[in-house]
Amino acid sequence: MIPAKGYAAQSVATDLAPWNFERRELAPHDVLLEIAYCGVCHTDLHSINNDWFPGIYPMVPGHEIVGKITQIGSHVKKFTTGDLAGVGVMVDSCQECDDCQNHQEQFCQVSPVQTYNSMGHDGLPAYGGYANNIVVREEFVHRVSAKLDLAGVAPLLCAGITTYSPLRKWQVGPGHKLAVVGLGGLGHMGVKFGVAFGAEVTVLSTSEAKREAAKALGAHHFVVTKNEDEVAAVKSTFD
Ligand SMILES: [Zn+2]
Ligand SMILES: [Zn+2]
Repeated sequence: MIPAKGYAAQSVATDLAPWNFERRELAPHDVLLEIAYCGVCHTDLHSINNDWFPGIYPMVPGHEIVGKITQIGSHVKKFTTGDLAGVGVMVDSCQECDDCQNHQEQFCQVSPVQTYNSMGHDGLPAYGGYANNIVVREEFVHRVSAKLDLAGVAPLLCAGITTYSPLRKWQVGPGHKLAVVGLGGLGHMGVKFGVAFGAEVTVLSTSEAKREAAKALGAHHFVVTKNEDEVAAVKSTFD
């Protein structure tokens, strides 16, 4: 086994605290990632607190992971040691069922393995990225350019793809009026992508205090949703 240290909740709703644990030895398709940064997603808090379903404890949260590959399994094709790479919300699936074959691994008919709070196909609980390392099948590891700021890359692995995917699917761009509800972890990504794609971006927020942050991210307009007049003024104006 590979020694690891991280931050874990030992039981529901307890504070995170340092915890030593082990990762599995590398299987032929696994890589070992030395973690440089891990973003904080609100899902981490929901999971620790059992907000959605009973959790698996101890729980090491974190699914916005970026770092450097330090070891590769004997059959790994995509990566070599020294590569920068990221890991998002999934770490394994059967790779053989119809859904996996269609690149819909999240619907794997055997069982999709989430990055944490999930049982792995190795029979061990999956532990996430609030740790110094992680072992992951190469199919669930993403290449990261050395030109990028790794701290800025980490949130792309969940908040980023969650907002990027629908904006690209609906081909949001010049001429579109995009409204982003809330300027939190996902909202700030939605604003940055919307602006980068050329849309006219409005942030809808309950808090006047977010106005300057929205402008700094490139938002063109800001509406305080507690103000009924402001909301009425933009009614039915978004695509
Ligand atoms: Zn997340
Ligand atoms: Zn499958």
